[in-house]
Amino acid sequence: MKVLVINCGSSSLKYQLFDMEQETVMVKGLVERIGLEGAQLNHQSKGKEKHVQMTDISDHKEAIELVIEALLSSEHGVLDKIEEIEAVGHRVAHGGDVFSASTLVDFQVKEEIRKLIELAPLHNPPNLLGIEAAEKLLPGAPQVAAFDTAFHQTIPSKAYMYSLPYELYEKYGIRKYGFHGTSHLYVGQRAAEMIGMDFPELKIITCHLGNGASVTAIGNGQSQETSMGFTPLEGLTMGTRCGDLDPAIVPFIMEKENLGTEEINQMLNKKSGVLGLSGVSSDFRDIEESAAQGNDRAKLALDVFVQDVKKYIGAYIATLNGLDALVFTAGLGENSKEIRAAICQDMDYLGITIDPEKNNVRGKEADISTKDSSVKVLVVPTNEELVIARDTKRLICLTRNE
Ligand code: ADP
Repeated sequence: MKVLVINCGSSSLKYQLFDMEQETVMVKGLVERIGLEGAQLNHQSKGKEKHVQMTDISDHKEAIELVIEALLSSEHGVLDKIEEIEAVGHRVAHGGDVFSASTLVDFQVKEEIRKLIELAPLHNPPNLLGIEAAEKLLPGAPQVAAFDTAFHQTIPSKAYMYSLPYELYEKYGIRKYGFHGTSHLYVGQRAAEMIGMDFPELKIITCHLGNGASVTAIGNGQSQETSMGFTPLEGLTMGTRCGDLDPAIVPFIMEKENLGTEEINQMLNKKSGVLGLSGVSSDFRDIEESAAQGNDRAKLALDVFVQDVKKYIGAYIATLNGLDALVFTAGLGENSKEIRAAICQDMDYLGITIDPEKNNVRGKEADISTKDSSVKVLVVPTNEELVIARDTKRLICLTRNE
């Protein structure tokens, strides 16, 4: 079975075509700057030359048309006919408390995703556009939606409720939802396989440390608590997002700086985090370099980030009443041995010690803990697309009674 996985952003579309017999990636690609000047397609079929095409792309439908053209091209493609794609899996940011697992898309599902735009105004609209465009262009292929929030639907109410007037939860759905769920689930399950135990038997903390970053406590094979909240702004200090704050700071800044809601949102989401602290960049590579050259604010930004991750690990060990595995993933977690070392430093009281030599890895699965560390510390590259492709295949097979 061939499954196309699509991840639509406001002006971008990432895609991968999987052959699910062997779970191999046949094609990977990215359409950038949709609706903007300088739009382009980057398309890479396995074993073929990379294909780059610059052309006007006015919307997500045109972007998918271009992707289909490239998939069918005798030069850069891998398909003879479009019907070879048996199903399409879509990454959808917000499933609210409606979706606790991936689901086949029908009219009702699209309506629910549309209603949730209020909670994810930047992400759900392009996700929906991608679904509707794929429905038109691949009418024979069922569509599946996989939600970033779904894995976290098992979090108990004592962890997802904010201490606000209860009516606000009832009226607006203000509660913790959590994000990066597909990634946390994937790396948690891989960790169990690497250790050679059943996933539900393990107490695991997964640290998804990319531009957006979150930590999740997994017990009984379920998300028990996670650091992102009502929106992806809560939790750790991130590339440009502030993470946890005293909420009183928000109206204080708005008053002092004479900012409206749009401007304060922009500040907290785009100008804060390690970018705001360091004044250097939102990219941790730049900050690490600058800190190494003696920039104190860059050093401070790294220290704050590391402190945040440590705090969540400590809290989640309390939530889980113990820990078997600590997992690092995403851009930073997979690649930065310095950040991993800083996070794991002075954690021996909690049973976490890493071996500097084993920690010298980038972008591949590894056990980096010392022999006597009671907690396994693992690096696991994330693969959200594969999880979406697997869910898509599973749901399609279910409908066909296979
Ligand atoms: P997202 O998907 O949230 O955009 P990624 O998971 O791709 O983020 O992670 C991007 C981040 O990973 C960048 O901010 C970059 O700083 C960091 N990163 C990637 N490679 C390295 C590296 N070798 N050393 C340090 N940081 C890295």
